[in-house]
Amino acid sequence: MTVSFSHYIPPRNFEDVSKEFVQPIPDDYFIWWLFRRRCVMCSKSATEINEIVPRGRSKKSILDWRNRVTLCRSCHDEFHHNGVTAEKIKVMQEKRNYVLLATGRAEYVNYDGV
Ligand SMILES: [Zn+2]
Repeated sequence: MTVSFSHYIPPRNFEDVSKEFVQPIPDDYFIWWLFRRRCVMCSKSATEINEIVPRGRSKKSILDWRNRVTLCRSCHDEFHHNGVTAEKIKVMQEKRNYVLLATGRAEYVNYDGV
């Protein structure tokens, strides 16, 4: 029997099967998985997890997976060198979203900021 995909017609109720977004568990394992062990700034092998909005400025930052990214040592040092500015935070949030879009993980992009 031959199946012709060119004549496939989606079911009328196709919207019902769209998957629901499940909030991830914000642990280290998830963060390493999310960024495929790559530095979000330079895409080299990551060695550490960074909070984009530093601990202390936002009490919930450490618990919020949207605020955590993996970095290499060099980019992590650069981020904290001379203090974390609003500009650095903005750049890293944009990089985070860019990496997620580029690696097919658009559902984890954060459009609201942290
Ligand atoms: Zn890096």
